[in-house]
Amino acid sequence: MSLDQPFDTVDFATRAIRAGQAFDPTTGSVIPPVYLSTTFVQDGIGGFRNGYEYARGGNPTRTSLEEQLAALEGGDRAFSFASGLAAEDALLRSLLQPGDHVLMGNDVYGGTHRLVNRIHVPWGIGLDTVEMGDLDAVRAALTPATRVVWLETPSNPLMKITDIAAVAAIAHAAGALVVVDNTFATPYLQQPLALGADVVVHSTTKYLGGHSDVLGGAVVLDEGIDVRGEDLAERVAFQQFGAGAVSGPMDAWLTTRGIKTLHVRMDRHSANAQAIAERLVGHPKLARVYYPGLPDHPGHELAARQMRSFGGMLSLELHDGAAARRFAESTTLFQLAESLGGVESLVCYPSEMTHASVRGTALEVSPAIVRLSVGIEGVDDLVGDVLGTLDRI
Ligand SMILES: *Cc1c(COP(=O)(O)O)cnc(C)c1O
Repeated sequence: MSLDQPFDTVDFATRAIRAGQAFDPTTGSVIPPVYLSTTFVQDGIGGFRNGYEYARGGNPTRTSLEEQLAALEGGDRAFSFASGLAAEDALLRSLLQPGDHVLMGNDVYGGTHRLVNRIHVPWGIGLDTVEMGDLDAVRAALTPATRVVWLETPSNPLMKITDIAAVAAIAHAAGALVVVDNTFATPYLQQPLALGADVVVHSTTKYLGGHSDVLGGAVVLDEGIDVRGEDLAERVAFQQFGAGAVSGPMDAWLTTRGIKTLHVRMDRHSANAQAIAERLVGHPKLARVYYPGLPDHPGHELAARQMRSFGGMLSLELHDGAAARRFAESTTLFQLAESLGGVESLVCYPSEMTHASVRGTALEVSPAIVRLSVGIEGVDDLVGDVLGTLDRI
């Protein structure tokens, strides 16, 4: 197989490992070097080598991550940022102008809602939230000013599943673009662009990086998306360069390194979460288990169509807030911490941790919920920790 072959024709695993990762032609180094240089020598004024001039505008290590991300999502171009929220901010500023309206799922990442509600709304953007799974409600909530419909599936923390293709059809008929935050599913489990979405965003901090050791974000999109007569990719590239929330070379390289094992990790995350969910169904200390891989989950059939497997995130509803709090503070292998998507298992108490910023809004989470980010440790150890904790509390 030639390294020049277009990466959309080869298996996901091959793309994860090879896209954007051509060996260094001068030394044969199998792993492309990490380019720390902030500036690049010009062959005469304006004579840039491969377009590189100054590292805010472009850096070869960042380019290799961006090529890898575009290949995995089946997009034309990808742009890497210092964090997921930096990526989202750059995308929204590329899409919107004062007077435009954003329609968001009522269960999107709390920081995404906060970004628009507290930073973009004061600059003249309109914002509403809606139950994304209710397609009539989505239709009714669209306004002539709606430019963006923003959704997350599976959502956080109740793992609600949204029909990406159906929402895309409704949004497109109303002249709006669809952005999918694909952080929970990752491109291995779900391909929003192929389902009709226009743009994918990621917090690469989570599964893509995969080891809880590097913050990052990405925007991935198709070519030819017109925004007021300009190509959206060019507008995002300009935001990246002009506002400068770029990822540094070490961060980009660590993310690339994590992505090479994404498919293997995701298979194990899904298998472990499925096993834990199945063992917990009907447990007397639980009111409910939220996992799309369970047949009684309301989004199960849709998730089975739209996703390769059901992912590593699940939530438990205990009988009251006090029990949920005790659970979150009593596990031994599952460590109490924000974030998700690393190889190690984490437990989180959303109402006072990840979702504290949305208390009192439509995005508020019940105090009886705990969320598990199921890692890839031994499944019997993980099941034992959860069952043992439920016994003790
Ligand atoms: C963490 C997260 C974000 C924000 O990403 P950062 O890298 O923390 O800025 C956005 N969306 C989802 C679904 C997330 O989990």
